[in-house]
Amino acid sequence: MSRKKNFFAGPSVMPVEVLEQMREEIVDYQGGGLSIIESSHRSQPFARMYSETLELLKEVMQIPEGYSTFFLGGGASLQFCMVPLNFLPAAQSASYICSGSWALKAVKEAQLVGRVDVAWDGKAGNYTTLPELSTLSLADDSAYLYLCSNETIGGIQWKTWPTNLEIPLIADMSSDILSRPVPIEKFSMIFAGVQKNMGPAGATLVIVKDELLERQNKGIPSYLDYKVHATNDGLYNTPPVFSIWGVKLVLEWIKKNGGAEGMAKRAELKSNLLYDVIDHSDGYYRSPVDKNYRSTMNVVFRLPSEELEAKFLSLTQEVGMLGLKGHRSVGGLRASLYNALPVEDVEALATLMREFQRENG
Ligand SMILES: *Cc1c(COP(=O)(O)O)cnc(C)c1O
Repeated sequence: MSRKKNFFAGPSVMPVEVLEQMREEIVDYQGGGLSIIESSHRSQPFARMYSETLELLKEVMQIPEGYSTFFLGGGASLQFCMVPLNFLPAAQSASYICSGSWALKAVKEAQLVGRVDVAWDGKAGNYTTLPELSTLSLADDSAYLYLCSNETIGGIQWKTWPTNLEIPLIADMSSDILSRPVPIEKFSMIFAGVQKNMGPAGATLVIVKDELLERQNKGIPSYLDYKVHATNDGLYNTPPVFSIWGVKLVLEWIKKNGGAEGMAKRAELKSNLLYDVIDHSDGYYRSPVDKNYRSTMNVVFRLPSEELEAKFLSLTQEVGMLGLKGHRSVGGLRASLYNALPVEDVEALATLMREFQRENG
């Protein structure tokens, strides 16, 4: 089989080794006479697989003591309302950094729950940059600060984290989770849909500081209550078994390939291949994003005209490259370079971009 070069923004490329391992093990999991996806989530095979997954996660992400880690259904999008339902008290506000489409969705959901303090809004600059952290001023009554570590659609990514923050920091890391080391201790909560960097769609990773759970609102419906999940070790109800199994195999692959630091090197290497082409194209390719915040995961770029963009896109499809059309809300092109995408695939795209400019410049 010739594999496509998969630049989809999510669900997205998986390590081929992991897919092959899944094929191997799907019918008979470790010789137990049944599939892991046929096993009760109260059974031995599941329990072992699940605890291995959590152990690996703690190791690879270096999650300190004092945090609860579990997987929920409902996608990262469900977290947009769960965060304020749990942590935004009626008498307070919550601060949000509006960095683009995903942060905005979180703001809109939070506004349904309570008072939102928009600490910074990138709208005027079309969401192509991020705020200088030292200049941020938060509402006095703010209960937490929320940010999106990588805006998947706009292609902007935080490079440093707020320091000396007196309130909890909560982050949506759906599209750059495990693409670099992250100091978990700076965050009170991190969540991420697993389908971009960590495995097959279905599960959302939640890492939440136990201290934060102590200040949570009361009267939340059970599934939406983080404490319910934390006190049941993430097994309050049936977890997304298939997805968690895939996450375990991807974590093993990440560990074998240098862990979070290995992934960061890969991400730098791959994204630089494309940013170099863009920067050396005499303006033929344009990145709308502030250089200081260029994403290593989602490289967004434009060509001189929409006609040329369409022509380039159809060329990529002819050569087996998928998912390069920019999000419908922003147009242009977008190459998503998640962990599992081979370096060679990005080299092939970089070469195609150079050739295309030569022939259509
Ligand atoms: C993909 C994505 C989401 C939405 O994830 P779902 O699992 O589809 O709900 C949220 N935030 C970011 C940053 C994303 O990239």
